[in-house]
Amino acid sequence: MAVTSHASIKSRDGVSTLADRWPLLGQRRPLVVYLCAIVTLDLAAIVTFSASTVFEWREALTFAALMGCGAVCIEASRRLGMPAGVSRDLLSAWWLPVALLLPPVYALFAPIVLQILLQVRVRATVVYRRVFSSAAIGLAGCSASFVFHGLVADPWALSQGGGRLILFAVASAVLFSLLNIALIAIAAHTANPDSAWREVLWDRESVLLDVVELCLGVTVSISCGLNLGLLILALPPVVLLQRSLLHAQLQAAARTDAKTGLLNAAAWQREADTEIVRARRTGDTLALLIIDIDHFKRVNDAHGHLVGDQVLVGVASMLRSQLRDYDVVGRFGGEEFVVLLPGADIDEARQVAERLRVRIGHMAIPVDDTLVRVTISAGVALMSVHGDDLIDLLTAADLALYRAKELGRDRVCIPAVQPPPRSLPNDPSTP
Ligand code: GH3
Ligand code: MG
Ligand code: MG
Repeated sequence: MAVTSHASIKSRDGVSTLADRWPLLGQRRPLVVYLCAIVTLDLAAIVTFSASTVFEWREALTFAALMGCGAVCIEASRRLGMPAGVSRDLLSAWWLPVALLLPPVYALFAPIVLQILLQVRVRATVVYRRVFSSAAIGLAGCSASFVFHGLVADPWALSQGGGRLILFAVASAVLFSLLNIALIAIAAHTANPDSAWREVLWDRESVLLDVVELCLGVTVSISCGLNLGLLILALPPVVLLQRSLLHAQLQAAARTDAKTGLLNAAAWQREADTEIVRARRTGDTLALLIIDIDHFKRVNDAHGHLVGDQVLVGVASMLRSQLRDYDVVGRFGGEEFVVLLPGADIDEARQVAERLRVRIGHMAIPVDDTLVRVTISAGVALMSVHGDDLIDLLTAADLALYRAKELGRDRVCIPAVQPPPRSLPNDPSTP
């Protein structure tokens, strides 16, 4: 796994969207302390394990062959391009065998080699991210290696296919994934304390990928132990998988707003249209919110655009964590967000908007020695009452938002046309 880009494939590896927005390091002391601690631990492990490892040609050759395969994988998918930010790859197909077959020190060096290659050949990203990524993967690999080598007398016997050895190898590979996820999730959560742990830890797509990586890693380890030349047979399927994975991420990136990880305006509009057609067919209720950050220009003017961007990321993250999975959230542009609430009636929509307003109002983004706070205004519109299609609903919600601004901001408004009162179950006028 590598830090190289939340698209639809949320990536914990490399710290997902959150990591991609690891912001102004100078303003994030806990994050800096954490990153430095992990890198220091990695360096200490390199020194300790280097001193205690006896050089062997067979091991060095295996390491070189596995790194060569990793390099071919990187080169073969390089031309496809990389989605901005953090992306998933299948490089652990190569560094898991390093961890399982070779002494722990090699697992510490493997991510350094491949991260340098990614930086030079694929995309030059901020160096501290590559350094942290190498350290996190290195420490996870080194621990897995240490445990596996402690459990089995001869790791190369893995290729004999003994059930107990394979079980130990799978357990060590699981340890590798869990440690890597944990190290990166802590960084993501430290970078953005408002983010839900669930968001950085659990994502079905990522878990599926972790399982694929684990299976590949163990299978390549067995082949590699049998005969180094078998790596030539393992390489093409891994390259193909790597390219398909990258392709899926590029497609997801085309729908996503790079700054916030939410849907971009065009993708949101497409999804919102689909939901509206469905609601019309089923007769379900549906509400739309337009949310605008109040006096955002003042934030930029007072603290600069980078801090402004951090506020946008914080607001987006809060929106995502407070809404249901099937609510459609997008960045409409600038400091405006749109939310479609399928199944919500006007009361529910107002409650949701009110909750978002309160939560965002309580958010504090640390900048230097102060905390930046923002408020939001929101306009709410209900399907069939304030409009029948997306354009009507957007227009109605926008007018409501305009009213919220006029009335002093930091509030939720609905359009002047009120929905008909709900009839009570015992209401004699109910047909
Ligand atoms: P109001 O309460 O009336 O909405 O005031 P406002 O200042 O939020 O609204 P206005 O439309 O005057 O200013 C919006 C600002 O948002 C101006 C623009 O520079 C800023 N902005 C738009 N996109 C971005 C962005 O991606 N990053 C940052 N940092 N600022 C942005
Ligand atoms: Mg605004
Ligand atoms: Mg605006």
